Amino acid sequence: MRLVLLGPPGAGKGTQSEAIAATYGIPHISTGDIFRANVKGETPLGKEAKGYMSRGELVPDQVVNRMVADRLRQPDAETGFLLDGYPRTVGQAYTLNGMLAMLDAQLDVVLHFAVPDEELEARIAKRQSEEGRDDDDAAVFQRRMKEYRDQTTDLIPHFREVGLLVDVDAVGTIEEVRARVEAACQQAKGDAAA
Ligand code: AMP
Repeated sequence: MRLVLLGPPGAGKGTQSEAIAATYGIPHISTGDIFRANVKGETPLGKEAKGYMSRGELVPDQVVNRMVADRLRQPDAETGFLLDGYPRTVGQAYTLNGMLAMLDAQLDVVLHFAVPDEELEARIAKRQSEEGRDDDDAAVFQRRMKEYRDQTTDLIPHFREVGLLVDVDAVGTIEEVRARVEAACQQAKGDAAA
């Protein structure tokens, strides 16, 4: 199973990813988590990404693409993976296409998590008080939303056209959303097998 999770910051992609990855026995590849680990470890990659992240901007495509290409070549990603937070630009989507062709692999489904803006703001305020992520600060969050609208939403019609997109209503309890995600994955698997 090869999936992509697409959605605005605070849509619950990380939370749902854990469950999907466990169900299908595939690695959960979150570019945001990889960047945060590198910032924490003060690696060269972390130093490169840190400024962009703290401003709520996207890290340049070539940096992210290189990182994902390395990750997808790891043995645990051979039979499947869940990409959480990548691709986020049209350029990244094209690059991913090239990587998949090299690996002789195809995506099964792109889940688009839909949540109204007001709900996202409330969720992010809660996450900041609980986890203290710098980029959940209100001003930085607005910037992340702008990046999403300006750069990432173009991927929705793109993946719809190629028949991979499934919209998931991501409002509700974790269990309710998980059930919708599971149904979408089952349908995608069925379609792939047909
Ligand atoms: P996330 O946890 O997915 O919201 O990512 C946190 C931050 O990491 C983002 O605000 C970006 O600065 C950076 N980042 C994560 N994934 C990407 C990506 N695919 N392209 C560019 N920047 C990214």
